[in-house]
Amino acid sequence: MELLYDTGWAEQPATVEQPLRGDIDCDVVVIGGGGGGMSAALRLAERGVDVVLLEAKTLGWGATSRNAGYLTNSVAADPEVLGLLLKRERLRELYRYAENAVHFAEDALSRHGIDCDYERTGIVMAAVSKGQLRHARRNAKVLAEAGAAGEFIEGPEAGLPEGFLGGIREGVGGTLNPGKFVLGLRDATIAAGVRVYECTPARDVVDTGDGVVVNTPGGKVKSRKALLTTNAASSGLSSAPRHLATPVWTSLVETEPIAPERLDEIGWTSRAPLVTLHMILESYRVTPRGTIAFGTRRIQAGRNPLPDRTPAPNVVDDLVRGFRDRFPGLRDVEPVRAWGGWIGMSSTWLPVAGEASDNVLYSLACNGHGFAQAQYVGHLLAEHVTGAPLHADLAAIWHGRKRFRPSFVSGPALYAGWLADRAADRLAALTTSESRITSSPVG
Ligand SMILES: Cc1cc2nc3c(=O)[nH]c(=O)nc-3n(C[C@H](O)[C@H](O)[C@H](O)COP(=O)(O)OP(=O)(O)OC[C@H]3O[C@@H](n4cnc5c(N)ncnc54)[C@H](O)[C@@H]3O)c2cc1C
Repeated sequence: MELLYDTGWAEQPATVEQPLRGDIDCDVVVIGGGGGGMSAALRLAERGVDVVLLEAKTLGWGATSRNAGYLTNSVAADPEVLGLLLKRERLRELYRYAENAVHFAEDALSRHGIDCDYERTGIVMAAVSKGQLRHARRNAKVLAEAGAAGEFIEGPEAGLPEGFLGGIREGVGGTLNPGKFVLGLRDATIAAGVRVYECTPARDVVDTGDGVVVNTPGGKVKSRKALLTTNAASSGLSSAPRHLATPVWTSLVETEPIAPERLDEIGWTSRAPLVTLHMILESYRVTPRGTIAFGTRRIQAGRNPLPDRTPAPNVVDDLVRGFRDRFPGLRDVEPVRAWGGWIGMSSTWLPVAGEASDNVLYSLACNGHGFAQAQYVGHLLAEHVTGAPLHADLAAIWHGRKRFRPSFVSGPALYAGWLADRAADRLAALTTSESRITSSPVG
């Protein structure tokens, strides 16, 4: 079947805001209009600050409108590994920040009246092998110690698809339609009085000591302060800290509609959105249009300037293979579309925010789990830039002026992660078939 290559989540905005023509002044300029940038600019406008928002394409064009739509209190790094590396108090701060981000995003939906099919289902970090189930138990313990909302679930009463043995059901969050969300937040941002310039890429951001000058193809913006919320594109700007993040391309696939009885038949009675416990996760969720959207597994490092692109055929094939392996009862279901987007991946897989220089602050809350977090960090940065002390949740991810070490995130490292996951899958399949043979009656 010929695949479609758009997200299918929502239409593009009906009209585009004018690009910048000429030179302008403002108090704060926000560069990059994803969930993070819009949320920051909105907060600044609410506080009466004269704010300009520059967006290279249209607001929300990046990861914020292209993601899988999970509103999650997870951070990208594995809880068990974090439990080994971080002090308990540090871990508590991190998960408190992530949970507050979910509450913030939920509040934003109701405050701005955004209808985006939000379902507060909680997400299941699901195990597809006995090894992953043991890992889930250990993770559940770490999360409980860190005060994160979640419970360990197991067995048929969990309502997970056949082959998913159990896992951790997050106690907050759920799924939504990110395309509809972006349209709603864009309307709210424009209505709040933010001076929005779309189709206006910042070419460079210069801290002059007493302020900031941002150069764009059509003119300059002079401001007192600047917020960089450019996500994966940050490394394309010389003012962003070196080694801040590696751009990583992440892909999703969506199936044709599936009759609800078939989901019941395979045991997915809870309809809970799932992410697996692989090193590089697999995600599977039912959409409001009765399809399954699934993705990640094989991610690819890129370089700035980031090209507009679609998922590679071998990555789509691999995702479809994964879907058929995980859902043998839905083997006949065809994929109909594939899309993807760029995320900025920090070397620790943890979200970060900080100061690039005296007058330039940045947020990089992404790593594939930043849908709620980018918005929350944008909001907190807006408060901070107008003089509020560092909020405890911003302090939990604050990098200050420290330098970043060169990242181990690279094409070969991500490929090695994919290979390790497939080797673990094969081992799990072998163990399962051996235990079937040894437990079958002989004679
Ligand atoms: C396929 C995929 C699936 C994902 N699934 C999930 C999920 O289910 N749950 C979750 O929590 N997270 C998920 N994520 C991650 C999440 O979408 C991001 O972490 C989050 O949206 C980041 O928001 P942001 O505002 O920081 O960045 P973006 O939304 O990427 O916004 C950055 C904006 O900056 C603009 N820009 C870049 N450079 C410039 C410049 N020089 N001048 C002006 N503008 C510029 C871009 O055009 C873009 O609009 C996923 C990401 C992808 C790609």
